[in-house]
Amino acid sequence: MEILKNYINGSWVESKSTSSADVVNPANQEIIAKVPVGKSTGQDMALAIEHAHKAYEDWKNVPTMKRVQPLFSLKKLLEDHKEEIAVLITNECGKTFAESLGEVQRAIENVEVACGAYVMGQSEFSENIATGIDEFMIRQPLGVCGCITPFNFPGMIPFWFLPYAIATGNAFVIKPSEKVPMTMQYVFELIDKNLDLPKGLLSLVHGGKDAVDAMLQDSKVKAISFVGSTPIAKYIYSEGAKYGKRVQAQGGAKNPVVIMPDADVEMTTRIITDSVYGCAGQRCLAASVIIPTGDDKGVFKEALVEAAKLRTTGYGMDAGTEMGPVITPESKTRIEGLIQKGIDEGGNLLLDGRNTTISGYEKGNFVRPTILEGLPLNGDLMGTEIFGPVMSLVNFKKLEETIDFINKGKYGNMACIFTRDGLAARTFRNRVMAGNVGINIGVAAPVAQFPFSGWKDSFFGDLHGQGRHAIEFFTQTKVVIERWPRNWSRKF
Ligand code: NAD
Repeated sequence: MEILKNYINGSWVESKSTSSADVVNPANQEIIAKVPVGKSTGQDMALAIEHAHKAYEDWKNVPTMKRVQPLFSLKKLLEDHKEEIAVLITNECGKTFAESLGEVQRAIENVEVACGAYVMGQSEFSENIATGIDEFMIRQPLGVCGCITPFNFPGMIPFWFLPYAIATGNAFVIKPSEKVPMTMQYVFELIDKNLDLPKGLLSLVHGGKDAVDAMLQDSKVKAISFVGSTPIAKYIYSEGAKYGKRVQAQGGAKNPVVIMPDADVEMTTRIITDSVYGCAGQRCLAASVIIPTGDDKGVFKEALVEAAKLRTTGYGMDAGTEMGPVITPESKTRIEGLIQKGIDEGGNLLLDGRNTTISGYEKGNFVRPTILEGLPLNGDLMGTEIFGPVMSLVNFKKLEETIDFINKGKYGNMACIFTRDGLAARTFRNRVMAGNVGINIGVAAPVAQFPFSGWKDSFFGDLHGQGRHAIEFFTQTKVVIERWPRNWSRKF
């Protein structure tokens, strides 16, 4: 099997590296590709950046209205090939076909929003700040920008950045997760065949840490967008700063969802179950800690256990599958180990999804829905991102106590509440320390025109991906103060 090529300077080129890693379908362990890894991928990255920098020198002078034209074509391309892209996502990442289609839709919406970059990036102008003097602020591109993305949304996450970077006049290099390189490989094949972009403007470089480090250390790279786990996000943020780059780094999560006693049982159960077990729990906005609050009679616990039992687990392309496998055998082992840790810490296992095999997919990395209750609040597991289909149930008597508990957690990606009480909802949304808040919503994912927020250890940086924040991230402001006197000989 051939090792995947990189897309550099408008052509497919072989990696300098001869080492490779297998790309594996998590439902059956079939090897679907080989991806370059190892030291020499750093040279691939350097080459891509060099060509990107040349492309940037011309692209920065192209008017924004012209720069967004290829994005209209890109949107159409993604729409026309939505199903093929979704099949690739399911086969390399494991999620269900419906989830993959939803993911591509989010990518398309980001391209759509970036097409409006001209309006979003408008200059600010003040006439006559003093006699005959005007002042205005313009936005200019940064140069070569790069993104490093995780395994769980191979078709969507690059698009939180790519269309905005291009629309604002930058050149862009993508380093996808080496676990799931096929989706971007296909998107770049589409781009190569159908879009008339300057050579070098968009590049795809495969690899792992070596390729990332080469991006971090290259002085031609001015900004890096990262999405992945918190330890690596911290690394990218601090190394990026060391090398003088602008960085936005999104990290991990452990998302709490509060259920007030007045919440609708059927709706709440259905939505929370989808949130916890959607994408097999491998979503940075997956509900993880479920907190019935107030005078709970166990109604929600019972309903959640029953709903979880009914979830159909299997290969994502099979009709009727509601939950696919987790990404790797190591990930399955890690998740099952964390469930055991929960039991060892004193948790009560209400539903055990370990040791699962699915008929016809015996080698798949399947973990069925799992529910733990009674974990110690200060225990290790309560503070650990499981990133698998595991729900932890905790109870509090008062909403204030629940909010205090949530705010003590180290992550701040998402927090949700289910209630019919406007005051409870208002108190929650105002006080809770999380960047994305849902009220009667299970996955509070911002649509493309809003920034994908995140607080505490879930985000390092200032400006987020998507929408206006992305436009700001990929541009630097320049304030110009101009004097044009009517009479040059007049003394000022
Ligand atoms: P990861 O951190 O292992 O990998 C992410 C990227 O970093 C990959 O491209 C990988 O090649 C690179 N990388 C890995 N180790 C590196 C190292 N030592 N040095 C330099 N680069 C390195 O994350 P993952 O397992 O692919 O993704 C899952 C994580 O991503 C979860 O923690 C999840 O919560 C998080 N995530 C967060 C968001 C968000 O918006 N906050 C969205 C999706 C996923």
